[in-house]
Amino acid sequence: MEIVIASLNLHKVREFREMLRALGGFDILSLHHFPDYQPPAETGKTFKDNAVLKAVHAAQTLGKLVLADDSGLVVPILDGEPGVLSRRYAGEDATDADNRRKLLKALTGKGNLQRSAYFECCIALADPNGLKKAVTGRCEGVITTEERGGNGFGYDPIFMKHDYDKTFAELDEAVKNRISHRGKAFANLALVLEPLVPA
Ligand code: IMP
Repeated sequence: MEIVIASLNLHKVREFREMLRALGGFDILSLHHFPDYQPPAETGKTFKDNAVLKAVHAAQTLGKLVLADDSGLVVPILDGEPGVLSRRYAGEDATDADNRRKLLKALTGKGNLQRSAYFECCIALADPNGLKKAVTGRCEGVITTEERGGNGFGYDPIFMKHDYDKTFAELDEAVKNRISHRGKAFANLALVLEPLVPA
């Protein structure tokens, strides 16, 4: 059974590939297989709005089963920023490094409690008839005072999950996938995906 991961983010695609592979039975594609496809503008106010928008649009346009995620980092002391604008926090063309620098600057001088943050991920599953399911996962931790580690992407080098002494960028990908917001959301989706796998 074919499933399209509606993302061009190679890191996200790799993480989802690993999770789907563990279920077995899926031929896994991503938007890299559909270079002419134009994703919709992410105009939603919540992670769920944007995940549903991306999944339904891609499923109806491509005529396939599609999984889309929208995710980001929420820092309560910054009124929820970067939030749904996580990818564009430091500007429309910002790099991951620009976004991390801006966040570290915004938290300069703040203590551990004030550096509390969580990643949130909403995954939407859609087919050409519309939305089938939307699920959410959260991962709580703190923003470190400096970058550590070379794995992962985005805010990984400055996010440390509670009860861990390594940033997400210092963890093996398999460990991150088990404990991350995306991994938790995916575990909630597995119940819906499993019956779709051909026997
Ligand atoms: P999206 O592609 O619009 O969902 O934006 C997601 C953005 O949130 C990414 O570009 C990262 O900045 C951030 N983000 C989401 N998930 C992660 C993660 O697992 N690690 C680090 N940053 C993440």
